[in-house]
Amino acid sequence: MNSKLSRRRLLGGGLALAGAVAGARLAAMPTAAQAAAPNAISPDAALERIVAGNARYAANDPANKDFSAGRAARAQAQFPIAAIVSCADSRVSPELLFDQAPGELFVTRVAGNFVNDDSLASLEYGVKFLGVPLIMVLGHSGCGAIDATIKVVQDDVQLPGHLPGLVDALRPGIKAAIASKPADLLAAATIENVRHNVAGLQSAGPIVSKLVADGKVKVVGGVYDIATGKVNMV
Ligand SMILES: [Zn+2]
Repeated sequence: MNSKLSRRRLLGGGLALAGAVAGARLAAMPTAAQAAAPNAISPDAALERIVAGNARYAANDPANKDFSAGRAARAQAQFPIAAIVSCADSRVSPELLFDQAPGELFVTRVAGNFVNDDSLASLEYGVKFLGVPLIMVLGHSGCGAIDATIKVVQDDVQLPGHLPGLVDALRPGIKAAIASKPADLLAAATIENVRHNVAGLQSAGPIVSKLVADGKVKVVGGVYDIATGKVNMV
């Protein structure tokens, strides 16, 4: 195992073995600008890591239990392996459900897990300056924001405060699902919203679209099932 791979494994696995010796190695890590950055892995390798982490979470066998391990290194720099576009729902906690240590995931959260200009800017920072190789748009079962949007569109329900703005942002992504009258509209709209935002990110110029075209970044979609703990790719 070369030293680069060894560092990656220490960071990625969050191993309980990572004690004082590992901490000393991590503290000597290079900056993100250098090629040896621990997150300088392929998009597919990053996806494998978070998929494996979700399997550990669903099996209630997480590897990440020691949150003080790696603190000194994290204070110096961050090397996230994936950006997650998540809902704000309290039951959806990306670091937990992908069993990743602090510093592994770069997360934007807004009810309904959609991308707006502010979250796109955050994602651009993640892929361009932090070297994040993977973006996942993560929907989830029982999403209240998607459900509210369906009710507004179908039943002309009026929402208070700033909620209509949220619905306006979600409406384009789920109108196709509503029009197709599926048996489970909430589930279908949740998937459609993920696909809409994945496609939007893949073509989001000038930064993300270029990195996607160059094969340096991949954008994927998933839906987290709160009942089972599993993320299914869409
Ligand atoms: Zn939600």
